[in-house]
Amino acid sequence: MSQQKTLALVAHDHKKAELLAWAGAHREQLVPHRLVATGTTGGLLQDELGLTIHRYKSGPLGGDQQIGALIAEGQLDLLIFFWDPLNPAPHDPDVKALLRLCSVWNVPVACNVSTADLLITSPRFTHPDYQRKVPQFDR
Ligand code: PGA
Repeated sequence: MSQQKTLALVAHDHKKAELLAWAGAHREQLVPHRLVATGTTGGLLQDELGLTIHRYKSGPLGGDQQIGALIAEGQLDLLIFFWDPLNPAPHDPDVKALLRLCSVWNVPVACNVSTADLLITSPRFTHPDYQRKVPQFDR
């Protein structure tokens, strides 16, 4: 039996086409889950693929930080984050912060198509016996 998870999808402008193509190819695997996204990415996923998705603010306006807050609250199970390694982003500190929180809280994160393919098709992702280790901190 599979479990519903919360997945976040984020793509920088030059990576949006790649994310749309990826999400289209994996639509069946995405649909059973609760999907959230930054504003523009989420709008495209809704309009182009008909996915039901909760949209936060656009990334540069705080959307990355809103998704970071989900991670800090233990409410995110997977992040697909196609950030752009070839163009500077005005919200680069937010991008780094989001990736950092994935490391802090041991949240799986895919920054490219091949990693996203592996994560979304992993039987462990939805297997009821697999629990991601959530680090415990004393502070
Ligand atoms: P966007 O934000 O989906 O609103 O474009 C993505 C980002 O730049 O983090």
